[in-house]
Amino acid sequence: MLEQSNELAAWDRDHFFHPSTHMGTHARGESPQRVIAGGEGVYITDTTGKRSLDAFAGLYCVNVGYGRQKIADAIAEQAKNLAYYHAYVGHGTEASIRLSKMIIDRAPAGMSRVYFGLSGSDANETNIKLIWYYNNVLGRPEKKKIISRWRGYHGSGVMTGSLTGLDLFHNAFDLPRAPILHTEAPYYFRRADRGQSEEQFSQHCADKLEEMILAEGPDTVAAFIGEPILGTGGIVPPPAGYWQKIQAVLKKYDILLVADEVVTGFGRLGTMFGSDHYGMKPDLITIAKGLTSAYAPLSGVIVADKMWQVLVQGSDKLGSLGHGWTYSAHPICVAAGVANLELIDELDLVTNAGETGAYFRKGLTETLAGHKHVGEVRGDGMLAAVEFVADKDDRVFFDASQKIGPQVATALAERGVIGRAMPQGDILGFAPPLCLTREEADTVIAAAADAVKSVF
Ligand code: PLP
Repeated sequence: MLEQSNELAAWDRDHFFHPSTHMGTHARGESPQRVIAGGEGVYITDTTGKRSLDAFAGLYCVNVGYGRQKIADAIAEQAKNLAYYHAYVGHGTEASIRLSKMIIDRAPAGMSRVYFGLSGSDANETNIKLIWYYNNVLGRPEKKKIISRWRGYHGSGVMTGSLTGLDLFHNAFDLPRAPILHTEAPYYFRRADRGQSEEQFSQHCADKLEEMILAEGPDTVAAFIGEPILGTGGIVPPPAGYWQKIQAVLKKYDILLVADEVVTGFGRLGTMFGSDHYGMKPDLITIAKGLTSAYAPLSGVIVADKMWQVLVQGSDKLGSLGHGWTYSAHPICVAAGVANLELIDELDLVTNAGETGAYFRKGLTETLAGHKHVGEVRGDGMLAAVEFVADKDDRVFFDASQKIGPQVATALAERGVIGRAMPQGDILGFAPPLCLTREEADTVIAAAADAVKSVF
């Protein structure tokens, strides 16, 4: 067993090009290597037999938890009956049609169609193309710029990496800047002036957005994209009134709203969609992760009917839509999606995300908020973050080189719980599976308290 592990570790260092990994330290064997072998409920096990409570649900995606027989059976059955057929020129499978209907039944009012992809990144690429196509059909070829936010995360592709407002994802890649613009992040804890209320700070963000639109020329700005709650940028809920004020500006200048619900779609905030939770009325919604709970790769773009009507006019003028992926609506992935959404309903996981999520965040706050290096405990639904500061009263932040977030995450992992050091800043994030129980939440809270104590 040990022999085999050593051999695997060597092959890993020598041949596996890992995503989002420090290439040098990994290849030289200076950073931890972990080979994951199995998962059950909220726990994963590695090849050494170590079990960890996964309080980040993989990458906030294994929403129903690991080892669900129902989804495994649906995948196996589909693979046996029909592993693949494409969805081009009007083809479908029972599961792709059924899943489209299930998504629209659950989506916010006014949505009518679903375009399937495989990852959140490719779904956002689809969004950009649909937005441009839409404005071309409407005879507005200049209206093409897309405004995203600093700290937003929308993927790692060429255009979607450009939408992402985190330096790490831009460093040395020469991603195209135009026609992507970034505006203020709604990061009240760090960005608000002393004494400024949440409403005032939201107004400031909306004013900044309007300033940018006017400076660029409203006729050149096509869309605004945002996660209902900032995820990878630090798990930052919108301050009071934020989405209402932003949407008022967008409406004034006829700018589309894209809600990137890759993390929040299908229950994570205790409502089926984050848009409903925060009163957003998007024209396009990006979905991925929770759509299949990551049992198979699947993403989608949900399109508002009023936008769909314009896209149809385009097809009538230009012919078939020149945008497709070989694996769009892949039969095995959509079969996993159907079983996953049924399971979410059967287990009432959306309610659990709201209730157990609130219990978890309350416990985390009571245990950690008083610590002198904890600036804020925040979150919503089954999403939580602890932000560390050097000095709470004077709002002095740690230097990024001190790597406080990674240190706490490592200490937590040593205690058998997986959280995530969020990129940029000193933030420990939690996004447990939506099936988390109160006892499991207590385990995470106790381990987090102990990990924080061990670092400071
Ligand atoms: N959008 C959001 C909000 C995300 O959090 C992510 C990934 O974490 C993506 C898009 C990109 O998804 P993927 O990694 O599947 O390309």
